[in-house]
Amino acid sequence: MKKTLVTAGIHGSEIGSVLTAREIKGWIESRDLPDVEVIPEVNLEAVENKQRENPRDEKDLNRVFPGNEDGTRSERTAHQLFQKAKDFERVIDLHTYGKNSWCVPYMLTDLEKDYNRNFCEKIGLKNAVQTGGKEGQLFIETSKLGIPSIIIEAGGAERYRDELEKVKDAVLSFLIEDYKKIQEEETIFYCHYERLSPEEEGFFEPKKEAGEEVDKGEPIGLLNEKEVRTDFAGFILGMKTTGKYSPDDESVAAVATRSSS
Ligand SMILES: [Zn+2]
Repeated sequence: MKKTLVTAGIHGSEIGSVLTAREIKGWIESRDLPDVEVIPEVNLEAVENKQRENPRDEKDLNRVFPGNEDGTRSERTAHQLFQKAKDFERVIDLHTYGKNSWCVPYMLTDLEKDYNRNFCEKIGLKNAVQTGGKEGQLFIETSKLGIPSIIIEAGGAERYRDELEKVKDAVLSFLIEDYKKIQEEETIFYCHYERLSPEEEGFFEPKKEAGEEVDKGEPIGLLNEKEVRTDFAGFILGMKTTGKYSPDDESVAAVATRSSS
C-alpha cells in the first residue's frame, strides 16, 4: 500500500495548481520517496487546452468519479485514477479558483469523518471547510472508502503565487521530514460555506478581500453599482476580482462560517 497520492489538473484551467504539483513532484523525485506519487496533469487534454472540462467530451472530470472503463474520455480517466487511488492511504487533490477570482488557501473535505479532520490538522493549513460534497468528485468518492481525502484550493490567476507557495510548503512539510517547516498555525474548522451567486449578470467590483471577515448583511462588493451582501457573518474564502460577472458559471464570493446556525 502506497501512502500519499497528490493530484492536480483535474480541472485543466487551474494552471496554478498544476505548476505547484510539478514543483512538489520535483522535490519528491529529488528525495526518492517511493511512498508518494504526484500526478500534476490528471486531465492532460484539458490542461493543454487550459479549459475546465475535457475537450473530447466536455465533461467535468470531477463529477464522474469513480468513472467507467467503457465510458467517455473523462469517465475512463476517472476510472483509471480511481483504481490507482484506492491503493493509497491518503489523497490530496490540488485546485485553484478560475480566472478573475482567487482564494486564500483552504482545505475542503467531509469534516464529519474524523480521519479527514485529523488529516487537515496534519497538513496544517489554517482553514479547513466542511462539505458534504457533490457526488462524483475524487475526494468525496475516495473518502467514502475510508481513505483520508482533501481538496486544497488556493490562489487563482498568476498574481496569487503567494497562496500557492503556502500550499507547496504545507504539502512538502507533511511529506518530507526535513523540509523547512511552515510556521505552524492552528487549523480553524468551518462547518458551513456558501458561494454567493447573484442572478443578475453585470459588472462586479469587490469591496472586501479574500481572507477578511464579513458581518451579516455587510456589502462584499457592488454588482452593477448595487450592493451584494451576505446573509450570515463569516470569513471570506474567495472573491471575484473586478470585472464582468455571469451567474452561469461563477460566484462573486465564497464565505465560510464556524457556527451552524
Ligand atoms: Zn477545480
